[in-house]
Amino acid sequence: MFVPKRYVFEKRALDYPIGQKLYKQLTKEKKNVIVLKSSRAVLEKMTSIEEKFHYGKETLIFGVKSSKKFITCRPSAHYQIPLVTGCMGRCEYCYLNTQLGDKPYIRTYVNIEEILDKAKKYIDEREEMTIFEGAATSDPLPVEPYTHGLEKVIRFFASEPLGRFRFVTKYHNVEPLLNIDHKNHTDIRFSLNSDYVINQYEHYTSRLNQRLEAAKKIGDSGYQLGFLIAPVFLYEGWEESYQKLIDKLNQTFKDFKDKITFEVISHRYTIKAKKRIQDVFPQTKLPMEEESRKFKYGQFGYGKYIYKPEDIDRIKSFFSKYLSNMAFQTEIKYII
Ligand code: SF4
Repeated sequence: MFVPKRYVFEKRALDYPIGQKLYKQLTKEKKNVIVLKSSRAVLEKMTSIEEKFHYGKETLIFGVKSSKKFITCRPSAHYQIPLVTGCMGRCEYCYLNTQLGDKPYIRTYVNIEEILDKAKKYIDEREEMTIFEGAATSDPLPVEPYTHGLEKVIRFFASEPLGRFRFVTKYHNVEPLLNIDHKNHTDIRFSLNSDYVINQYEHYTSRLNQRLEAAKKIGDSGYQLGFLIAPVFLYEGWEESYQKLIDKLNQTFKDFKDKITFEVISHRYTIKAKKRIQDVFPQTKLPMEEESRKFKYGQFGYGKYIYKPEDIDRIKSFFSKYLSNMAFQTEIKYII
């Protein structure tokens, strides 16, 4: 659970019952509570990017999502469903570091019911299976104890024959989700990595064993379970280190009956991201040397540095060999 240094309420959030309830509760507990007209004012006085980043990551904002349109989310889903923006984690490689730029704070929404009304309209208009991604701009699990957004969304999708929900997380506070009658309309993925990568680069996230324990509980509760192994790095001893991850997975899920999906993504970065990472983590040891990478134009028109083809082949052959011979049923969605 995310326990920030300060809680900020956008004025409009106090017009909603959840906003009022949280405001009363946090004030009673004598937390650092601030009310602002707009969340933009939160970082106004800070000048350095590094300072803004770390201050923002310690700030939880309760706001109102007023977007008229959901953003599309191809190829994995049809739409992003906005529940939270930003994440308490400080993973050095995270794409949010660049994507959210000067808004690194965590903003969660108190008008979930309005957001779900919008989702319902999309489903009804399409009249065919419509998938919504809940973690496109955040990791929603750490703020779940405040707004219970995931709980409400999972219940909503359970009653939608043509709606499906999915999200991915690096956290483990899954208890409130375990007893929901989800009708198997929600797909929960856990993002995993080797202990080395987690300890080195994934700050303020749950450790590997915690994620695996949480994943087991989610799988045992009948959700469609998946793992995202990402980003995969090549470093000295990477094979042994990822082998240990595979062993732990086999140990944890050896008696598991349902199929588990896997997605594997090798590390990549853009020059813009590299600059931002170096600004907010000046001591970073993330491997980002252009000489050892291949430049590739991405689908959104900008270029990124991916591993060289021979390195990608090593990653593909390692993971396809092990993931197709696990102690439980698997489906490898892709290894890139
Ligand atoms: S947990 Fe996920 S969303 Fe959060 S900082 Fe890490 S990579 Fe980014």
